[in-house]
Order: sequence, then structure tokens, then C-alpha cells
Amino acid sequence: MRRELPARLSDMIDTHCHLSSSQFDPDREAVIGRAFEAGLAAIVEVGYSLEKSRRARTLAARPDIFATAGIHPHEAGRFREQDFEEIERLARLGGTVAIGETGLDFYRDFAPADAQRTLFRRHIALALETSLPLVIHTRAASDEMIATLRETGAGRAGGSLHAFHGDPAFARGGIALGFHIGIGGGLVKDPARLRASLEGLPLERLLLETDAPYLSPPGAARRNEPANILLIARALAVALGRDVEEISRITDENARRLFRLPGAS
Ligand SMILES: [Zn+2]
Repeated sequence: MRRELPARLSDMIDTHCHLSSSQFDPDREAVIGRAFEAGLAAIVEVGYSLEKSRRARTLAARPDIFATAGIHPHEAGRFREQDFEEIERLARLGGTVAIGETGLDFYRDFAPADAQRTLFRRHIALALETSLPLVIHTRAASDEMIATLRETGAGRAGGSLHAFHGDPAFARGGIALGFHIGIGGGLVKDPARLRASLEGLPLERLLLETDAPYLSPPGAARRNEPANILLIARALAVALGRDVEEISRITDENARRLFRLPGAS
């Protein structure tokens, strides 16, 4: 049978994953090895607590892994003040490519909405101060997210609106403010919705992401991993009627430019 997908593509970047998750404790090195064997050029390892932001920097000792620093909105009710001060220090150290994961999540009740708002605005201020892009999580908060980004001038920092759920108005609003859209396993599960939601969006603002170990794409094991970026690239290519090579090349350039990775044009 003819393969639909080359076994290896060059130049794909997983712009959002969590290799520091304890789900990878048994075989983290093997997972990283498979990712680069599958043709990834780089991985952005996203911090979501002080501890995970520190772990991200450790993982980023490899030249092809890059770290972010931030505290997830789910933690907004219980992080310690000195944790955020330490995030600020990590952000300024150099080698940190983005601020986040931060944002608003009113879907789950893990943290009070006001605490989330305050913490999110502090991340935005830090991104503007350090001129680093933001990695943003949004759930059940689309309108307030766009309003907050507009009001704070966060577009000057830019960043990724990660785990795009398929609401075209949200994508257009974010893109108009200067943001990129992260396409991952959650959306590729529904090809018709994926196609419809991308209509008219500029390719130059799309990013590939796995959010591993979460949001496994169809056809992959339950625990997601960065090597599955191939499946995301293929689904995106099919939805857009493009070659998978072209999608991987364009999204690679987008990621390098946004996160100022080596080889950015
Ligand atoms: Zn994440």
C-alpha cells in the first residue's frame, strides 16, 4: 500500500508540549528520540508552574528544545507570590523563548475567575517588558480573552493562542491583534470543523502543536507525544488542500519567527 505520509518530514516544530509531565517519567528520553527521528526540527517545552518552568529549562539544555516560563490559570488560586517572582527571573535569564502557559479558563472551576484575570495580566505585563511572546490558554473565555488582549496592548508581544477550538471569530480576532493560532489534536479530530474554521485565515499565522501528553490526535496512542506532530501536519494539509511538505515548511517558518528560534528569517 502506498504511504500517504513520508516517514520523515524535515522542519516541523512542536510549538506546545509538556515533556516535563510525570506521564513521561518512564521513557522521556525515548519520547524525545522518537520526536527528532520523526523529523521535528525543534520542540517548545511549555512551563505551567514554577516547578515545570524550571524543568523546561533543564530540558532546554538540548539545542533543539526551547523553554517557556509561566503559571497556568488553573494554578491562579494557589501559587505563591515568590513563585511568580521566580518566573519573572527565569523570563529575564535568556534562553526563555516565551511567557506562559497563561490565560483564562472559565470552563473548569480550578481557580477563581478574578485570580485568573490578575495573574494573566501580570504575565502580559511581563511579556511586554521582556519583549517575549505569550503562550495563551483559553477555555470558555473567548470574548473576554480578545477584549483583554486588545485592552492591554498584548499584541505588541504577540504569541500563540494555543489549542484552537475552531471558533473562526476568535481566530480572526486574535490574528487581527497580531497573534498566531495553535492547531493540535483537539481540532484535527473533526476535519469538517477544522476546514471550516480555517477558511480565510492567513497560513502565516498557523502553528503546529501537540500539547503532549494531552489531546492525542486520532490514530495515535492515548498518551500524546511530539512525534505525533506528523499527524497534525497531515490533517492540516488535508483540510487546507495543500501538500504536507508545504504545511510543515510554512508552519516551521512561522514558529521560528514568533519564538525567534535559530534559523528565523
Ligand atoms: Zn499546555
